[in-house]
Amino acid sequence: MSTMADLQDGRGFSLVKTLYEWVREEHARHMEEERDPNVIYVTDLVYCPLKRGFRLEFPELSFTFKPIHVTGSLLHLGLASLLKDQGFEIEKSLEKVFDVSGRQVRVKGRVDAYRPDLIIEFKTGRPGQQLPHDHHALQLRAYLDLAGVDEGLLAYVTLDRIVEFRVGREEGLVERLLEQHLNRTRAPLWEWECRSCAFSEYCPLRNY
Ligand code: SF4
Repeated sequence: MSTMADLQDGRGFSLVKTLYEWVREEHARHMEEERDPNVIYVTDLVYCPLKRGFRLEFPELSFTFKPIHVTGSLLHLGLASLLKDQGFEIEKSLEKVFDVSGRQVRVKGRVDAYRPDLIIEFKTGRPGQQLPHDHHALQLRAYLDLAGVDEGLLAYVTLDRIVEFRVGREEGLVERLLEQHLNRTRAPLWEWECRSCAFSEYCPLRNY
């Protein structure tokens, strides 16, 4: 059996370290993508507009390595591989350019599973929750609008439920969310958001 001393010396394989490096690299890649001010992600549009600025200023504050998040990411990989065999395109990138008062802004998103007639978004999380969450449905509706697809499936796999919800397209939604985001007309976007925000201790608009 490897001891902590072995691991500290760099001897012996560590799955914990491997998972940690995977999460850290994913976080670094995402931070790098966020640096272009003319690129906005759908995930930015469906949460508080102040968070992106905080993430860029204080990148280490948004990094977490929690078992609940790692298991969620691993479950995503498993579901993606299952749906790939069913003919879905996995992790498909979407993007569209919007003109906002003369400024060209590229909105990007990456959907879990795509077919020209259906987009599937998977979610995991803690048991005992009221589902679906409004912010998840908003995110999927934004993907549908961006891709021009009429139907979406919001699928939850948690420890106590495996359940799916049909979500319809709302035309013009991304443009409305983009204007709201750039003008910062609603911060936070959701009443509960500040309580789970990594930046709440430094934010003047915290609501609790
Ligand atoms: S504390 Fe609230 S208002 Fe401030 S960044 Fe976080 S979610 Fe937004």
